[in-house]
Amino acid sequence: MLSFVDKNHNELTHQEKSSRIRKEINQSYEQLKANYPVLNRQNSIGMAIFLLAIAVIVVASWAWYRAIIPTWLMIVINAFAMGVLHEIEHDLIHWLYFKKQKGIHHLMLFGVWILRPLTVNPWIRRTLHHHHHKFSGTLHDVEERSVTNGERWSVKRLLTTADVVVGGLLRLQRMFSDMDREVRNGNLKLETSSRLKRIMFLSIVPVTIAAHVILYLFFSDILLDWINTRFTSGMSFPHDVDNLLISLELPIYTVLLPNLLRQFCLHFITSNMHYFGDVEAGNVIEQTQVLNVWWTYPMQLFCFFFGWTHSIHHFVVNETFYVRHIGRKKAQEVLKKYGVRFNDLGTFKRANRFHGITK
Ligand SMILES: [Zn+2]
Ligand SMILES: [Zn+2]
Repeated sequence: MLSFVDKNHNELTHQEKSSRIRKEINQSYEQLKANYPVLNRQNSIGMAIFLLAIAVIVVASWAWYRAIIPTWLMIVINAFAMGVLHEIEHDLIHWLYFKKQKGIHHLMLFGVWILRPLTVNPWIRRTLHHHHHKFSGTLHDVEERSVTNGERWSVKRLLTTADVVVGGLLRLQRMFSDMDREVRNGNLKLETSSRLKRIMFLSIVPVTIAAHVILYLFFSDILLDWINTRFTSGMSFPHDVDNLLISLELPIYTVLLPNLLRQFCLHFITSNMHYFGDVEAGNVIEQTQVLNVWWTYPMQLFCFFFGWTHSIHHFVVNETFYVRHIGRKKAQEVLKKYGVRFNDLGTFKRANRFHGITK
């Protein structure tokens, strides 16, 4: 496929290539919808998937609570369904469901947030995400940088991949100084920079912080128990904390642990399929790669195959995740034809730079 188009398409500018990609993918979606007119019932399908995912979570959690299924199976089922809810949230952020019926729209947004409380406030994320689309891969693409995109691979990056609170704090100073530099260099407006900094903090208050703190306590408690059984150290949490953890057992197991798994998988995939730092301004072809190498499959399961389809979304923004997923084969052919990268595993060595590390 590459050899047959390269020669001609190399002469095109990246804007021309991107607009052809957009046109060809949009045509394939029109064809798909002509073949399956039911796909045009966007609001109903979005609502049906939203309710179905919640029903799956409720049933699996109930079955676990009644000891019908083991803990690991409930966590896997819930994490998968919460990955679907992440896609619903992303579609809602792009106003793809109930744009004219704001009450239903916001109720859905609330639902997908409360079942995924480790994530940032979706109403605030909307601003961060639109900034991501406009400035993907730049030093001030704060949404991607908040999930480790652009950092060199290390144990620290691995441990903080899922963590947007303590992990976020550890990355904050570098991100803010980069943003200040971007303002000085005229690449970012001062008021945009100040706004981004302000809302980044607001986006995790209070739900995201509270959900993370509960998990920190939960894992610390497990660690203390392990130390006690090995070394009889006698260290333990105050009773109040122990009681709090016991009273929160149901949400910790059925909501927070599945989300931790889901969030790690999503952040791992997204932070390695977006490029960072040396993306040519406005060049969508350099912004992402398709990451669908076989060993990422278990992680793709918990982020609804994000690595397979998110590149397509950078070109055709206003389409639902299920159409993107159903039509991915044709769309991926188009991406490949115009030179979007596939499974560029060198990104792990280059700290996600498109070309290479220069500093
Ligand atoms: Zn988007
Ligand atoms: Zn993106």
